[in-house]
Amino acid sequence: MKGRIIIISGFSGTGKGTIVNKLLDSSDDYEISISATTRAMRQGEVEGKSYFFVTKERFEDMISKDELLEYACYVNNYYGTPKKYVFDELEKGKNVILEIEVQGALQVKKIYNEAMLIFILPPSAKALYNRLKSRNTETDEMIKNRLTRSLEEISFINQYDLVVVNDELNECVKKIKSVVENNVTIDNTEKETINNIINKYKEDVKGEKYV
Ligand code: 5GP
Repeated sequence: MKGRIIIISGFSGTGKGTIVNKLLDSSDDYEISISATTRAMRQGEVEGKSYFFVTKERFEDMISKDELLEYACYVNNYYGTPKKYVFDELEKGKNVILEIEVQGALQVKKIYNEAMLIFILPPSAKALYNRLKSRNTETDEMIKNRLTRSLEEISFINQYDLVVVNDELNECVKKIKSVVENNVTIDNTEKETINNIINKYKEDVKGEKYV
């Protein structure tokens, strides 16, 4: 049986990485795709594990040779998914997780409608801001750029198959697994709750003058 592409998106600092690691640990059926990027390596990151860190020239070479399944420019850097690994793993029957931003996610959905798009929301704008600050890996200017970008990305959330609020990690992982593995559908009450959270997030990012 062929596996499925599972895309996990969410603003920087929402804890996507932790959720993805939990999914990978939960079963051998999940594999993660490692992206290529032109952004500088952060402290603690590992080449070939966190990303393939490449130059702009190499990245553009990958684009011209059609080696990428999708790519996007995010806050002045390129990010893209190498194609071959994803296809090889799908052929083996694995569910391949792509932790990517919205432009890339929608590019993939256009080609593979069966890809499942999951968006992780932070519990609140304040929680996200505090997390980005305490992570201490970016300047205030970079944090501001990321939060500005989050306001652009939020308008695409309605094109996602599932939106999950990361307020309790294990619950969040359980929900994703049940949707992926049992094809559970989302009801309207959940949609309303999500819309309220999105509206509150937008108000708070502006109200607290984070951007
Ligand atoms: P970060 O710099 O925080 O590692 O990632 C910035 C954003 O780029 C995140 O939203 C992350 O999900 C996204 N991203 C990482 N790899 C890829 C990729 O291969 N393609 C796309 N489109 N986005 C990616």
